Amino acid sequence: MLKKVLVANRGEIAVRIIRACREMGIATVAVYSDMDKDSLHRRLADESVCIGPANSVKSYLNVKNIIEAACLTGADSIHPGFGFLSESPSFAKMCTEIGIKFIGPSSELIELMGNKSKAKETMKNAGVPVVPGSDGLVKDINEAKKIAKQIKYPIIIKASSGGGGKGIRIAYSEEELVKEYEIVKHEAKVSFNDDSIYIEKFIENPRHVEIQVLADEHGNVVHLGERDCSVQRRNQKILEETPSMAIDSKLREKMGNVAVNAVKKIGYSNAGTIEFLVDKNKNFYFMEMNTRIQVEHPVTEMVTGLDLVKEQIKIASGEKLGFTQKDIEFKGHAMECRINAEDPEKKFMPCPGKITGLHLPGGNGIRVDTAIYSDYTVPQTYDSMIAKIIVHGKDRDEAIAKMKSALAELVVDGITTNTDFLSKILDNENFRKNKYDTSFIKKEFGL
Ligand code: ADP
Ligand code: ADP
Ligand code: MG
Repeated sequence: MLKKVLVANRGEIAVRIIRACREMGIATVAVYSDMDKDSLHRRLADESVCIGPANSVKSYLNVKNIIEAACLTGADSIHPGFGFLSESPSFAKMCTEIGIKFIGPSSELIELMGNKSKAKETMKNAGVPVVPGSDGLVKDINEAKKIAKQIKYPIIIKASSGGGGKGIRIAYSEEELVKEYEIVKHEAKVSFNDDSIYIEKFIENPRHVEIQVLADEHGNVVHLGERDCSVQRRNQKILEETPSMAIDSKLREKMGNVAVNAVKKIGYSNAGTIEFLVDKNKNFYFMEMNTRIQVEHPVTEMVTGLDLVKEQIKIASGEKLGFTQKDIEFKGHAMECRINAEDPEKKFMPCPGKITGLHLPGGNGIRVDTAIYSDYTVPQTYDSMIAKIIVHGKDRDEAIAKMKSALAELVVDGITTNTDFLSKILDNENFRKNKYDTSFIKKEFGL
């Protein structure tokens, strides 16, 4: 078993990983920026090392300083969390080369899946249905026009290195394509330093349904069911739930099998998520694979009783999965809300600042993953997600009732959050009746 894990992240996910290590008797090293000197993840870890100034390029993305911190403290492994270096093939490779275990898949697979266009091609060859679109990258606007004509508008233009909902635009006509193509190219260059682009058919009113997989380093693979992440604003997830009410047990099994077979075929190991779109006619299409732990992993934990971070660590330690597909049972219904320090009244502008009073909800079936505390100052430098509330009920109605109650109890004084907006979603009649898809927030709230 790994003995000392350096957590190359911050915020709630760093705390989440440190807790798992502590429960397993594994020592932890936190890394932090100057800005995060009073952060919870630093306080909870056994040791901590400052890796640079607030700017994440110089700290949480500073490969040299992070690796040095690992060597200095004698860490035998690094958990990258999500965001930051979690999908950096060069970072994973460097860790491996100096004998530090990267808790995740191989750098080759991170690279392959991080290139969304290549990932699609690979999955197509592995027998996975993919969204119709360009065969790989489009080299210029003329080629884009040609393909768009073939697959018919509306189409979606995507940055091959994109993530976090960025670098995605829809075009309903050739005129729009010409305009949006340049915008995506520019955004991709600035955000991902890679302006390669691919296009695919825009699936109208789909559900985002993703399959969680776990694969050990001995070829054993299982899936842990799905998560429905269709409640999105600007292609970014806000609320997630499992099971998805958009699929039945037959489709669940089919999607699960497709995911497991694909993972086996590409030789993937550790935790991963295959994201699909499900259309009105229950066709499903591969969208992308995330080669890391995901923000919404707790809903899967609630219904399966498994701890995904511990599983990641066990897999990275070379252990075999301790269960097979038929051992995995799904109980009840789980839901997650992302609490962000942002103002829905002001175009969801980030609202960092000092938390002057705090009350976190609790009770039967309610879990809060967060790194905030009373008197903590939410920095403006990083992501605005400050907490995740996760609930587990016997069915969807009970989960909604629990979430409503938990949100009503939450008090975060001193800063503005999206809590009321989340309550409005839960009160929405169409949401309650399971009549929603990825266009839900736009349609119901005009956002
Ligand atoms: P998930 O897929 O786990 O639901 P998100 O898409 O919300 O996660 O992203 C999780 C975190 O990672 C966010 O902080 C997001 O900004 C960041 N992130 C995801 N992909 C990228 C990327 N390609 N480049 C930079 N940040 C990213
Ligand atoms: P990211 O890497 O930013 O997570 P994804 O490729 O996973 O990007 O897409 C993010 C979201 O954009 C999806 O969850 C979905 O709502 C929407 N989307 C992506 N591709 C399509 C498509 N072909 N048709 C309709 N919606 C799409
Ligand atoms: Mg995605």
